[in-house]
Amino acid sequence: MAIKLAIIVPCYNEEEVLPETNRRLLEVLTRLQDRGAVTPDSAIHYVDDGSRDKTWPLIEALSKGDGRVHGIKLSRNRGHQAALMSGLLTVPGDALVSIDADLQDDVTVIEKMVDEHAAGAEVVYGVRDSRATDTVFKRNTALAYYGLMRKMGVDLVHNHADFRLMGRRAVEALREYGETNMFLRGIVPLVGYRAATVRYDRAERFAGESKYPLRKMLTFALEGITSFSVVPLRLITLLGLVISVASFLMILFVVYVTLVLQAVVPGWASTVVPIYFLGGIQMLSMGVLGEYVAKIYLETKRRPRFFIEATV
Ligand code: UDP
Ligand code: MG
Repeated sequence: MAIKLAIIVPCYNEEEVLPETNRRLLEVLTRLQDRGAVTPDSAIHYVDDGSRDKTWPLIEALSKGDGRVHGIKLSRNRGHQAALMSGLLTVPGDALVSIDADLQDDVTVIEKMVDEHAAGAEVVYGVRDSRATDTVFKRNTALAYYGLMRKMGVDLVHNHADFRLMGRRAVEALREYGETNMFLRGIVPLVGYRAATVRYDRAERFAGESKYPLRKMLTFALEGITSFSVVPLRLITLLGLVISVASFLMILFVVYVTLVLQAVVPGWASTVVPIYFLGGIQMLSMGVLGEYVAKIYLETKRRPRFFIEATV
């Protein structure tokens, strides 16, 4: 039975790639429609995340060119995840596929995702087989990060970014998650339902440059940890425990030296080193605590995630 498919593409300053992305996505859609897997009113939805270049006029033009092309314009730049959410929460369809605009993810894999969905999977994850095109730095930091997240008890699909298909039920479940700052690749596994994965080779960006500089990547990584794990807080407790035990042993030592040996422990180093050491540890712990407090502060304001300025 044919399903109504919607492909959601967040775009931030993507004028260089959009025409090609659109051409390839329409090809995929046409193929799916021809074999009766998706309905004729299945569509592509571009979300313009407050681009400063010609992305929006381009989307308008593309939508004039083909009735299956739709556009959502956000009122300003809100970031990749918010752009995705705006599409997921507003676009109709039995199944929604999210994919980046830059053609790093193989668009033909969407066909496999639709097949997996037809075979009963509610969520289909696109998983990168090779990261050969990523820089050594990005590959290793990603590897370390996925490992760290798993150690902290966060369920992430390895090497999966935001290229996935979600059935209507899974999408509706997303609405129940109230956080303003969504970290979708952590939330979606929490939703559950039957999941499948399809593998593909990640390509180089088709054109333009990454909208994720190191600074944004770090924020995103930190966001992921503090949104899903309290392990850093527990580590502080553990650290406190270890230092307390060590200090207690030290007390015994000092008492022994003073009462039994009738001697004095020499002063300067044994005073100054612990002061700096503990000062550092305490600041660090406060910083970690602060990250969580900041999170509470930002989330309790319950600020809206996005505003839609226009649609075509
Ligand atoms: N993107 C967005 N808003 C932003 C930054 C990026 O909508 O503030 C989109 C971007 O247009 C692309 C996707 O998110 O479709 C992924 O961004 P990018 O390819 O630059 O990230 P990378 O693949 O380098 O991690
Ligand atoms: Mg990319």
